[in-house]
Amino acid sequence: MTDSPFDDYLEMVDRVGVLLGYSEGDLKPLHSPKRSIIVSIPIEMDDGMVEIFTGFRVQYDTIRGPAKGGIRYHPAVTLDEVKALAAWMSVKCAVVDIPFGGAKGGVAVDPSQLSMRELERLTRRYTAEIFDIIGPDKDIPAPDVGTHPQIMAWVMDTISMKRGYVEPGTVTGKPVPLGGSRGRDEATARGLLYTVRAAFRVLGMTLEGARVVIQGYGNVGSNAARLLHEAGARIIAVSDVRGGIHASGGLDPQEVARHARETGSVGGLPGTKTITNAELLTLECDLLVPAALGGQITVENARRVRARVIAEGANGPTTPEADAILREKGVFIIPDILANAGGVVVSYFEWVQDRYGYFWKEEVVRERLEEKMRQAFHDVLGMAERHRVDMRTAAYALGVERIVEARRLRGLYG
Ligand code: NAD
Repeated sequence: MTDSPFDDYLEMVDRVGVLLGYSEGDLKPLHSPKRSIIVSIPIEMDDGMVEIFTGFRVQYDTIRGPAKGGIRYHPAVTLDEVKALAAWMSVKCAVVDIPFGGAKGGVAVDPSQLSMRELERLTRRYTAEIFDIIGPDKDIPAPDVGTHPQIMAWVMDTISMKRGYVEPGTVTGKPVPLGGSRGRDEATARGLLYTVRAAFRVLGMTLEGARVVIQGYGNVGSNAARLLHEAGARIIAVSDVRGGIHASGGLDPQEVARHARETGSVGGLPGTKTITNAELLTLECDLLVPAALGGQITVENARRVRARVIAEGANGPTTPEADAILREKGVFIIPDILANAGGVVVSYFEWVQDRYGYFWKEEVVRERLEEKMRQAFHDVLGMAERHRVDMRTAAYALGVERIVEARRLRGLYG
């Protein structure tokens, strides 16, 4: 593995390029972003001091449609990370076949250290700095780690005020009263559930009674726990940044969520055994869902992973060397660019609804999400079978194929 997630992406693109018989010329446009910008964000803090934050927006590829990708607020945000996340978004949107390219934005900031007023000033100033390059036909931001629907509401308001008219389709993940889509909150987890169902069917496994371990209990992890539990699975362990809990008889996800709300962590829930995040990843189970950060399953622990299936809720939770070890062990991996694509699919639905000004019932969102995720899973599986490769390689191959085909049709000028 390299130290750079972007270099990992490049290696993968070149590998699938060989598999698909593409020339260097076909692949070169996928090697660098269309546009990267770095902006300074000066804001006045509540105590009257001035702070300057650094923000980024990378539009990786727009050959299949406007760029699409979240905005991350995290102290460790760097241009290299944003570039890698934007590149992954390009491939992910192609895998689920929605008419978008890929983008990502970020601000190097710890949002938990800012008041709501400071967060609002930061968001509005960052939006103003990237105003010229975003919009419903250019680049559509969304929430990511450290950002939430209220932040998207400020982005939408800043753009609308500068344009002089309300423009809801300029950002997704908004609150429902401002043109957000029903079902967006749980969309990533619900999409993950649909891919897990499809995988279990192919593998001859059943969700009823399946033992599930989930790392991370935020938006993706907690909703995945609830939905998998509703589907009949037994959630035997979960964790958050402070540590994990284990109950071989199964946990009630709603009770865990209540406990986490009241105490600030899933840890210490009565009737459960305390475990570390490291122990959690190596528990024997039918399904492991990493839903926290990147780089969690590594060369250090991959040999000890005892899951039959891994569905990657997080982006990049498995390092390339760990991936090779898991493949050797016969673990079936539903890769991030497929497993967690439900969020961007419903973001696409939100953009469509905003442009029509006509909003769907939650059941319609779920039905259309299921159709998209099932189709994408089988498209990836078909690619894996045709080329006798694993699901991750197949997902990249499918995404890269769709991007290269679009570029061939449009030409290099695009
Ligand atoms: P979140 O901030 O809501 O939750 C993250 C969870 O991970 C929290 O429970 C946190 O305590 C836990 N965590 C943080 N550091 C940890 C550590 N070192 N060990 C164990 N747990 C840790 O974030 P989220 O929206 O649920 O996103 C989780 C992952 O899923 C991220 O990698 C994100 O990029 C990816 N993802 C999210 C979406 C989405 O729609 N929310 C879509 C696609 C991908």
